[in-house]
Amino acid sequence: MVELRGIHKSFGPLEVLRGIDLRVRAGEVVVVLGPSGSGKSTLLRCVNHLEKVNRGSVRIDGELIGYRRTGNRLRELKEREILRQRTHIGFVFQNFNLFPHLTALENVAEAPVAAQGRPRREVRELAAELLDRVGLADRADAYPRRLSGGQQQRVAIARALALRPKVLLFDEPTSALDPELVGEVLEVMKDLARAGTTMVVVTHEIGFAREVADTVVFMDGGVIVEQGPPDEVLDRPKHERTRSFLAKVL
Ligand code: ADP
Ligand code: MG
Repeated sequence: MVELRGIHKSFGPLEVLRGIDLRVRAGEVVVVLGPSGSGKSTLLRCVNHLEKVNRGSVRIDGELIGYRRTGNRLRELKEREILRQRTHIGFVFQNFNLFPHLTALENVAEAPVAAQGRPRREVRELAAELLDRVGLADRADAYPRRLSGGQQQRVAIARALALRPKVLLFDEPTSALDPELVGEVLEVMKDLARAGTTMVVVTHEIGFAREVADTVVFMDGGVIVEQGPPDEVLDRPKHERTRSFLAKVL
């Protein structure tokens, strides 16, 4: 479902991603671990072309993201085309990024109507179902400022699902939450994983990785240091850098 090949990304002289190869199968949950500054957010942003790669390719369900190949040449797609591709890639941010002037239901219903042109009535019904799925049926008419951080993040997850994405990307979805609100968001993410959602999750929640991940990826310095099933990477890491990172977060 997701195929990253040879991704390189620099900001000026700073080389942030130095050759990333990663495949995520349909229904697979990949958890990405790594120290601050190792390039995790940049990698997620490259997947949906919020950042342009310097080298390498991103494919979602076989479709090249951001570019069209004609013969040997790559040409960047038009903005409208990129926005269409992005609707297949759900993104959940650390800071929720809800629209403050829209209710929970309107936040969920906005993009399918605006970006995909789906009928408003049908989308509102779907939005109500999705809010129910994340345990917020009774908060549909609340504005974000009236919701806790955990509730806001669950609305953000429902909003991402409303676009019927092929893959959901999470960038430290619980890092901005008070500790007592982390569990409710992780529970929703576990439900999604059990339902077969394809997910790439950047998080420091090792318990979540252990319980839910099919594959754990450890990144450091812009490369994947190691990857494998959680029991291998978390309990029997092969690399010293992985061991010292885990010693700090566990
Ligand atoms: P992580 O998410 O693993 O903490 P990031 O991908 O956010 O790492 O950042 C990796 C490195 O790239 C950091 O040194 C960061 O300062 C740098 N970086 C990220 N985005 C930009 C940007 N837009 N311009 C310049 N440097 C950036
Ligand atoms: Mg980050």
